[in-house]
Amino acid sequence: MTKTKKPLSFYQSVGNYFKKAAPHTGLDKGLLKQIKVCNAVYAIHFPVEITDQKTGKKRVKVIEAYRVQHSHHRLPTKGGIRYSEHVNQSEVQALATLMSYKCAIVHVPFGGAKGGVKINPWEYSQEDLEKITRRYTYELLRRNFIGPATDVPAPDYGTGPREMSWIYDTYRTLRENDLNAAGCVTGKPVNMYGIKGRTEATGRGVFYGLQQACANEEDMKKLGLSKGIAGKKVVVQGLGNVGSFSAAISQVEGDALIIAVGEADGFILNEKGLDIAKLIAVKMETGSIMNYGDAKKYGPEDRGKVLELECDILIPAALENQITLANADKIKAKIIGEAANGPISSPAEDVLLKKGKLIVPDVFLNAGGVTVSYFEWLKNLSHMRFGRMDKRYRQQGRVNTLDLIGDMVGTPVAQDVYKKYAKGAGEVDLVRSGLEDAMITAYENIHEISREKNIDLRTAAFVNAIQLIGSDYEGMGIFP
Ligand code: GLU
Repeated sequence: MTKTKKPLSFYQSVGNYFKKAAPHTGLDKGLLKQIKVCNAVYAIHFPVEITDQKTGKKRVKVIEAYRVQHSHHRLPTKGGIRYSEHVNQSEVQALATLMSYKCAIVHVPFGGAKGGVKINPWEYSQEDLEKITRRYTYELLRRNFIGPATDVPAPDYGTGPREMSWIYDTYRTLRENDLNAAGCVTGKPVNMYGIKGRTEATGRGVFYGLQQACANEEDMKKLGLSKGIAGKKVVVQGLGNVGSFSAAISQVEGDALIIAVGEADGFILNEKGLDIAKLIAVKMETGSIMNYGDAKKYGPEDRGKVLELECDILIPAALENQITLANADKIKAKIIGEAANGPISSPAEDVLLKKGKLIVPDVFLNAGGVTVSYFEWLKNLSHMRFGRMDKRYRQQGRVNTLDLIGDMVGTPVAQDVYKKYAKGAGEVDLVRSGLEDAMITAYENIHEISREKNIDLRTAAFVNAIQLIGSDYEGMGIFP
């Protein structure tokens, strides 16, 4: 009997990426170990009285949940909370680890953390989800695993602004004297101390990151592609928050051609391009992308095949371990943009790299979410909306300049020119601009390391992160 090898866990893959990068960092072995391990793991069980969706009767459910703080080199620690029935300790450790590296790469001054609650959120009523979320928050607070200065959660798979508002409300009820209570969690609704542009942030960051990757003529030439994201054939796996915004913004602002989108119930394909805004509306109205009209349809038994389609850019935006040794050699995309965390296992990555694919790694590409979370946290600590002090001041400055130009040329500048240029930046303009800058700068940094050391982009991103975290530790005098 032939023994089949057990597929690698997500955490093992992250460990392999670290191992590959470590020799390029020049750091001390002990320091490397400290940067690799998870500093604190909080694993809990708590009871919640829920209503059984089938019988309608109340019963007690014991919930399994985690919060892992990977690195305390900077505080607070930061990272989302995932609601999924696949949650387990090792998965949360992998995700917390990626958060530390992600923050370092986009120069966001946080340590990494992640939370997970082992439930299928779509099987619970809103009332029960609220009870679970509030109780989880209480459990975190009891052990000092939440707070604006210690550990700041955010949305992840299966959670969103609604859950964040429950977390905030629970925290402020229990810590009513904390002036900075709103900074205990990010991704809150805009009318509840959130920030404009946070919901779209991860997807928008994916777009900025891919746009930057495609702007490099030499890299594109190696792949047999032309420069620029416009016109590139794109396939997206997963139309949740990250997949929807990545696809919609790449289409509207980047002119990319989204030819296929896949979800758990199958995938749809139209070589001439899908209308993403329409597709999102169809999914919202009917609950499934399969009800979109103008496309070929493939059912749930074929859902994995969406990854194997002929295209320029593949964006896995669902869960981890989607591309493994089982399908790596069938991937035809030339560029793979990891919008999800850990969609490629490390052995699969070796196969893809050998075939000359360009992998734009998760630790960089999906860092837009935490970047805008950082802006939200800063807004909460400053107790003021970005742009509040200077929007009108800047607008008036531009009006004055246009008036002056009119005076100088002897004809007043046209009203529509005033409309277009005489504007101050509002919150969302500043958030988008800050995000774009973070993504472009980070890409240039990891691209440079990759070129200099002749290593792939993920290894370069890990080298970058490990060195930055290492220099923090050295600065603290822990590793002189
Ligand atoms: N869950 C997101 C991530 O994986 C966002 C984390 C945050 O904003 O803190 O990056």
